[in-house]
Amino acid sequence: MNEQVLFAKQMLTAAGWLQNAFAVVNSEGRLQEVGIGEPTGARCFDVLLPAPANIHSHSFQRAIAGLTERREGRSEDNFWSWRRLMYKFLDHLDPEDIEAIAAQVQMEMLEAGYASVGEFHYLHHQLGGTPYEDPAELSHRILSAAKDSGIGYTHLPVLYMHAGLAGEPLAGGQLRFGCTLESFTRLFESVDSALPNYPGDFHLGVAPHSLRAVDYEGILLTDKLVSNGPIHIHIAEQTAEVEEVRHSLGATPIRWLLEHMPVDRRWCLIHATHADESELRQLAASKAIAGICPITEANLGDGIFNAVAFSESNGRMAIGSDSNVRIAMAEELRLLEYSQRLRFRRRVLLTSGELSCGRFLYDQATLGGAQALARDAGRIETGALADLVALDAENTPLHGRCGDELLDAWIFASDDSIVTDVWAAGRHVVQDGRHINRDRIHSAFNSVMENLRSEH
Ligand code: ZN
Repeated sequence: MNEQVLFAKQMLTAAGWLQNAFAVVNSEGRLQEVGIGEPTGARCFDVLLPAPANIHSHSFQRAIAGLTERREGRSEDNFWSWRRLMYKFLDHLDPEDIEAIAAQVQMEMLEAGYASVGEFHYLHHQLGGTPYEDPAELSHRILSAAKDSGIGYTHLPVLYMHAGLAGEPLAGGQLRFGCTLESFTRLFESVDSALPNYPGDFHLGVAPHSLRAVDYEGILLTDKLVSNGPIHIHIAEQTAEVEEVRHSLGATPIRWLLEHMPVDRRWCLIHATHADESELRQLAASKAIAGICPITEANLGDGIFNAVAFSESNGRMAIGSDSNVRIAMAEELRLLEYSQRLRFRRRVLLTSGELSCGRFLYDQATLGGAQALARDAGRIETGALADLVALDAENTPLHGRCGDELLDAWIFASDDSIVTDVWAAGRHVVQDGRHINRDRIHSAFNSVMENLRSEH
């Protein structure tokens, strides 16, 4: 990678907003220098920001986006009926399909302004549960999609042991997820030993799926496998699940996890949707990230995370696109705030001190996102990875705005179509609003979708 010199009329740095500033990206994809002035030969942009991380994705679910909006039979439609449809769809996916879908999803994320993603990867085996020759075949497929799309990547292989808290065996579509502690360790080690073949900013974390699917020994194992994290877990997405955990384990999921595991800044709790204020206070004090997926949580009818109480306790959040029904960063942040406004019937709820609401939300997505993916990024500062996003401020609602108003205008008055350029660890993969390999990645995705449709 050649050294790049970037100039922006407005730049959000770790030291605050700078006007007419430059940033030098070195050949390792890190920021080498940040300062005021316009060096000769610099590429010019209107607005340059640190790019957020998308901390929670199941990439293959993008392929069923928009196909689950009809009521199933005469029954009430909810998360569990959506999940049945998703499992049925899994029967048709082979490794090539999974790689092509992942590359498309990562490309869409980059074009939306995300520089990195954490893939919560639970699809491990062949149809019926037989392992591939390399037990980590499908993990390697997603890693290879990430190398192709150029996204910054944290792989989170999922330990999924049983179908419910009573240890019910896996069945049907779930057989593709299941691992014992031994087989999961082998899978993890296969990914770990292949990591040097990928860019230096790729990381390996781990994900015990949920308290429904993993027991105490399983969670302990995952904690041991990655001493520096990250560790992600689905925690309290559905009220039925919270009740089931309370009944079986004697405490609600968040409380149980905080009491039984060394939860700290390595951890990211996905969908802490159903939590009382004391759980939120303790979670905030643990320094773990609350991973919120506002669009998916709305689509699935999960409920509303109490982000107001959590941020009043100085809890740190990050955002994810989860089911990938939409890949839209500004919309995730807008919905995070709007869900609170609707809940509490007040305005401008997620903010602190002098920061505007848009700035506060954006700081969560960049700084919280970097922590959740164990990525040395999320800020424009010498030494950090160059995860950057540039915006068009001329022909958009951003025109004439400066400082935090730019973020407010992007999040509340515009959308991701104003993203012009994105760098992931210095890889300049979105240029003039398009991913550099969009046509190739998109046509591979389209042919997978055509084949899948003909199989139905
Ligand atoms: Zn999820």
